[in-house]
Amino acid sequence: MNAVRTPVIFARKDELLEIAEDEEKRKSFLAKMRRPLEYVVNWGVKSSLWMYAFGLACCSIEMMAFGAARWDSDRYGIIARGTPRQSDLMIVGGAVTYQMAPRMKRLYDQMAQPRYVIAMGECAINGGPFWDSYSVVKGTDKVIPVDVVVPGCPANPEALFDGIIKLQEKILKGELAR
Ligand code: SF4
Repeated sequence: MNAVRTPVIFARKDELLEIAEDEEKRKSFLAKMRRPLEYVVNWGVKSSLWMYAFGLACCSIEMMAFGAARWDSDRYGIIARGTPRQSDLMIVGGAVTYQMAPRMKRLYDQMAQPRYVIAMGECAINGGPFWDSYSVVKGTDKVIPVDVVVPGCPANPEALFDGIIKLQEKILKGELAR
C-alpha cells in the first residue's frame, strides 16, 4: 500500500515545486484553482450565515418564529447573534423610519464581511402601508444595499426560508462576491 502511495506524493510535491519556480506555470495553476477555491469558500459562507435580526415592527415576530422550534433556522446554519460584529446577514423586518436609518447604516457598517441584507416584508421593501408617511423610508435599499426581498404583510417564516435559499444560491454562484 505504502509502496504505491509514496511515489504519488513525491510526484505531486515535485510538480508543485516546479510550479512555484516557474512564473508562467504558477499563473496558469492559480487560474485553474481559482474557481474551485471560490466555490469552496462560497459554500462555507452560504452554509454558516450568522443573522443579525434587525426587527423593527410586526414582521420581526415572524422572524422570531423563523428561529424557534417549528421552523428551526439552525438547520440551515443560520444562527442569531446579538451583535453586528459577529454577523454577516442582516434581516430587516419592519418599517425603517428616518430616525432609525442612520443607526441601521452604522450597524451595517459594523458587520463582518462579506455581508448580506434581506428586506423582510412590505415595509422594509418599500415602506408598505406607510409608503406615503412623513416618517418612513421608502425602502431599506435607500440606506443600505439589499440582496434579497421577501414580500408579504407580514412575510411569514416559510417566505423567509425561501428568501434565505435564494440568497444561498446567489452566494454559491458567486453573484454577491464583494
Ligand atoms: S409588512 Fe406588514 S406585518 Fe410587516 S412590519 Fe409592515 S405592517 Fe407589519
